[in-house]
Amino acid sequence: MWERSKVSDLLPGISPESHSFTYTYPPPYVALGRSSRGGFDIAEAVVWPDFSMYVHFPFCRMNCNFCSLHRQTAQNEGMVSSYLQALSQELRLFGGIECVPPLRALYLGGGTPTMLSADELNQLLDRIAAALRLPYGADVEVTIECAPEQGRDVHGWAAFFQTLTSRRQLPVTRASVGVEAWSDAVLSRMGRTAATISATQALVAAVDQAVATYNVDFLVGYPRGPEGPREEGRDIVSAVNDLRAQGMRVPSVSIYQLWAVENIPISRTALHTLPSADDLLQELWTVQSALYDLGYIPGYGTAFVRGAEDLHRWTRHRYESFRHLGFGSGSYSFLPDGLVQRERDVAGYRALLAQRSPHWGEVDRAINLVTRLSAVELEMRRIICGLRSGTPVPPPTATSAAELEELASKLNRLTDLGVLERRSEGLALSAESLLLTNAVSSYLHPGAMPRKPPAAWHAAPVSRRRGAHTSG
Ligand code: SF4
Repeated sequence: MWERSKVSDLLPGISPESHSFTYTYPPPYVALGRSSRGGFDIAEAVVWPDFSMYVHFPFCRMNCNFCSLHRQTAQNEGMVSSYLQALSQELRLFGGIECVPPLRALYLGGGTPTMLSADELNQLLDRIAAALRLPYGADVEVTIECAPEQGRDVHGWAAFFQTLTSRRQLPVTRASVGVEAWSDAVLSRMGRTAATISATQALVAAVDQAVATYNVDFLVGYPRGPEGPREEGRDIVSAVNDLRAQGMRVPSVSIYQLWAVENIPISRTALHTLPSADDLLQELWTVQSALYDLGYIPGYGTAFVRGAEDLHRWTRHRYESFRHLGFGSGSYSFLPDGLVQRERDVAGYRALLAQRSPHWGEVDRAINLVTRLSAVELEMRRIICGLRSGTPVPPPTATSAAELEELASKLNRLTDLGVLERRSEGLALSAESLLLTNAVSSYLHPGAMPRKPPAAWHAAPVSRRRGAHTSG
């Protein structure tokens, strides 16, 4: 394990100071500017050997002020049920293609899918299985995102998960639990009104009993409050130790790094109260050191896992093979040669799918913003996303383009520093540098196309942002 000072020596250049999380290349704001409305034919998927699916549920009970996800507070049952109807309609259209490839992983994300009843979730899973004509016993990793709820105790959660994990088709096999902080005062300041520590413990205890494997998610980089600077890393380690002391497995811990993200409510209005880059590194280093001491090993992205069985599959489809289809409002699809972004417009999505017999082509033209990537961009994406997903990647096969030359030079620098290591299969993040995952993938973006959009981009109206980048 690196000494703390070694991490500081790696700065500048791979500092978290100018980077938050990043999940794809090219940066979505760049891809959006070049996108066309429509142009993704689902029949393209027929030739894929397999794929994974993401299904978005954009409703929550809480309104967390650090959250940049596509979601809204559910006002009434009608909003939710009409959205579920639209989702079913979209799944039906997808199921209409001649030969649906085998599904390997399904991710129910949001929002908060666990605010649906077990019956509603079972119906949704049944519809997905029917649309995909899944054979009984198909081996599919099924993940559900969960958030604590006031008034739901461990028995209530246990009954809920029991019905979802005992299904014959598409049983839930993974859960991702948003814990975020381990202090009731901080959780309250975050707007997580339903997520006290005791409510979180009830949820994690039920998940631990019922679900094969699961992840607990924490936040670092939250603005300081009246109590002054916090030791977020120490709090995360305390949470893991507390949960394990109560007999829970805590098989995977992931860190969601929040820093200098201008498009989320709390940091936009409180940039001056964000921790410094050096403080943030300290917290990440504290978490990494403690979890490795507890026997965790590097997982994908920013996750630490107890064993290889706790690694998830969906990330490989999303970041390595790029056969990951998003359904619902505001979702993303990662295609072998492109990216599809959807507008965050729940009402528009519902209205479109409510038409008597919509065709896929209409849905595509109305809500898909499709970007096809050049050969150079595909090569950049293979390496940047591959490293992020924890997979060894062969270095660039050609350096004829300026971006690839820049990337090759940065990879050499990171290898010389020990951030990356050479393995027989290619370059990979070293275990010590897992805490720098976000910073490394941001650093590898070309200088001419930084991960973060310029400030002016945020200030522009949404309608103008698509026209802002027209090259390529
Ligand atoms: S963090 Fe989770 S529960 Fe909170 S608003 Fe975002 S999606 Fe909803």
